[in-house]
Amino acid sequence: MENIKAKKKYGQNFLKDDSILHKIIEAMPNNENHTVEIGPGLGDLTQHMLKYKDVTAYEIDSDLLTVLQSKFANEIQSRKLELIHTDVLQIWKSKNTLYDGKYDLIANLPYYIATNIILSAIEDSNCEHIIVMIQKEVAQKFAANEGEKEFSSLGVMTKLTSKEAKILFDVPPTAFEPPPKVTSSILYIKKDLNNSLDDEFKSFLKAAFTQPRKKLSKNLSSKIDKTLLKEIYLALNIDENIRPHELSASLYHQMYEKVILNDKRKRN
Ligand code: SAM
Repeated sequence: MENIKAKKKYGQNFLKDDSILHKIIEAMPNNENHTVEIGPGLGDLTQHMLKYKDVTAYEIDSDLLTVLQSKFANEIQSRKLELIHTDVLQIWKSKNTLYDGKYDLIANLPYYIATNIILSAIEDSNCEHIIVMIQKEVAQKFAANEGEKEFSSLGVMTKLTSKEAKILFDVPPTAFEPPPKVTSSILYIKKDLNNSLDDEFKSFLKAAFTQPRKKLSKNLSSKIDKTLLKEIYLALNIDENIRPHELSASLYHQMYEKVILNDKRKRN
C-alpha cells in the first residue's frame, strides 16, 4: 500500500479510520440484495463488506487494480468479488445499470463525480439503497427538505424517488489519507422502486432552480406562459412570491402535471 501514491485526478482519499469503516458496515441493509462498490481503492471497505455480501466493484485506476487483484485473489477466484476495471459512468451510459439484479450501492465515492454518480444510481431501477460517503455540502442537498436553503432540484428528485433520504453521520478530513479539504458525510437513500422521473420533468426542475434566490415564477417564466402559470399557482394555492427552495416536491410534481396536461390539450 505504501508504494501507492494517491491520485488527485481520480479523487483518491483513502478511508483509514477503522471506527468509520465499521459504522458504514453497520449501515449496510440486512437484505438479499447484491452489493456494488464504486472505487474500491485499496480495498479497505471492500474487505469488510465481503464478510457479509458478494461484491461487484468498479475501479478506474489500473495501479489500484493490480493491488486489488493480488489482495483479493481468493475472493475473485471464488466469485465472491467481481472486480471491473472501468470508468463507472461509462457503464451507466452503455448499460443503464451496474448490476443485473437488485443491488445496494455502498461506497466512499470519488468527490469530483459524486453528484453524477448519485443521480445515475437514482435512475438505475436495479439500485435500491444508496449509502455513500460524499462532501457534506452535496449530501445536504440530496437530503434537504423544502424550506431549507439547501433544497434544490437534487432534493426534489430525491424526495420523489425515495422512501427515505438522510445524512447518517459526518466524517472529518482526518479519517482519510490524504485528508480532503472538506468535511464528508454518509448519505443514506432508500429508494422507492415504483417511482421514476422523466427527462421533461428534469428540465422543468432545471428551469425552476436557474436562479435559486429569485422568485420561482420568474424562473419558470422562461418555460411556461404567464397566464398558464398564474392559473396553476391559483389552482394549487401557491403564494406568488414563493422562492424555488420553499415549494414542496409534491407541488413541483403537481405543477408539472398541469403543464403537461395543458400541452396535451393544446395539441388535441
Ligand atoms: N474505497 C476506497 C476507500 O474508501 O479508501 C477509495 C475511495 S476514493 C475516495 C475514490 C475511488 O474511486 C478511488 O479508488 C478512485 O480511483 C476511484 N474512481 C475515481 N473515478 C472513478 C470512476 N470514474 N470510475 C470508477 N472508479 C473511480
